[in-house]
Amino acid sequence: AARQSGSAFSGPVSTASGEQVQLMINVTGLAELKQMNPSQVDGIGLMRTEFLFQEREALPTEEEQYQVYRQMAEWAAGKPVTIRTLDAGGDKPIAGLTEAGDLNPFLGVRGVRLSLKRLDVFRVQLRALARAAVTGNLKVMIPMVTVPEELDRCRDLFRSVVGELNDQGGAAAMPPIGMMVEVPAAAIAVEDFNADFYSIGSNDLIQYVMATSRDEPQLADLARPSRAVFQLIAHVVDHARRRGREASLCGDLAGDPQQVASLLDQGLRSFSVAPGALGPVRGAISRYSGKA
Ligand code: PEP
Ligand code: MG
Repeated sequence: AARQSGSAFSGPVSTASGEQVQLMINVTGLAELKQMNPSQVDGIGLMRTEFLFQEREALPTEEEQYQVYRQMAEWAAGKPVTIRTLDAGGDKPIAGLTEAGDLNPFLGVRGVRLSLKRLDVFRVQLRALARAAVTGNLKVMIPMVTVPEELDRCRDLFRSVVGELNDQGGAAAMPPIGMMVEVPAAAIAVEDFNADFYSIGSNDLIQYVMATSRDEPQLADLARPSRAVFQLIAHVVDHARRRGREASLCGDLAGDPQQVASLLDQGLRSFSVAPGALGPVRGAISRYSGKA
């Protein structure tokens, strides 16, 4: 996994027509970062925190989480580090947390829905994030947001956690709070959400728009970005631009060099990809000379 070929570069990425594009990485933990230099990327566009919670006896403590988030912020040396709050459920069950026997886990209590039901667990994560936010350029992203109230509740909770920490004499800060756009309802009505930034989760967005499991090989031809999906992506990107907020895309689509031109055609100028996809995606961006 320590392949550096194709990603041994530094500096920003530009299209053939000279437009700058932000290129970030998706990570699950500190191990991946040890093999990389932050000069190779524009930051971390998605840190999936599920992996801190999986395959263990007890949930990670505030201190344990804080240490991981802080070290990521330090690694990035001022570049953005986007940490997603726990996205348990769906394809990522967590013992003692997610509901066993859910007949339709992708439409069930997952992501922010679970966090808002388990405030005991969510508050621990928010406290760790609020403390880490003073150590670097941290951004916090909420998964599976479906209605504006969910994001509002997260923001209120974050504010109360920061107040609590400050009252206890601890250093804590309120980072920008953004949302994953991966539920069709959120993409269609994106203007209703009070998000500081947006990150399009194409893996789930495609599965929910196309009514096609992201894990069913027999339906691979349907689990593709159709014109309907591209329309939603363009809608989110347009809205973000009008509001002066960032919009990125962190699903697998961003790491597919064959899709890069289509995504740039929708106006997207920020990608977050698996570290192994950096080289090919950088190449595809640099060959792009505008809408065909
Ligand atoms: C997505 O849904 O596109 C995404 C990036 O999140 P995950 O794959 O973790 O569901
Ligand atoms: Mg997702």
